[in-house]
Amino acid sequence: MTEPRIEHHRPVEYRLADHRLQRDGFTVAPAADGRRIEVTGSCPGCGGHTTVVWEYGIPSGHKGFLGRSKARSIDRPVGARTVYCDCGHVHANRPAEAWDQGCGAYWQVELP
Ligand SMILES: [Zn+2]
Ligand SMILES: [Zn+2]
Repeated sequence: MTEPRIEHHRPVEYRLADHRLQRDGFTVAPAADGRRIEVTGSCPGCGGHTTVVWEYGIPSGHKGFLGRSKARSIDRPVGARTVYCDCGHVHANRPAEAWDQGCGAYWQVELP
């Protein structure tokens, strides 16, 4: 049995908000295969758990699944990258056209 992940999610209303560069509370984990970087942490807006995966170095013609939280680039992403809340919770007043699955918060994470 694994402990359920502790999540302090707050049911805030959906709002596009820039939370700027977040230095603490985010784990940046390059995958062993050297083609992915995974950033996990808690949304500064609602506290929900968010995982963003960057894939890179993918040869053209690769038929892979492009998830909504995945972005691709040929070069390994470095520096400050924008991350959107993807907590998966339903937030009040979320516009129907919103493409993210979170509270509307976005922020930057520094990739090494
Ligand atoms: Zn949320
Ligand atoms: Zn959020």
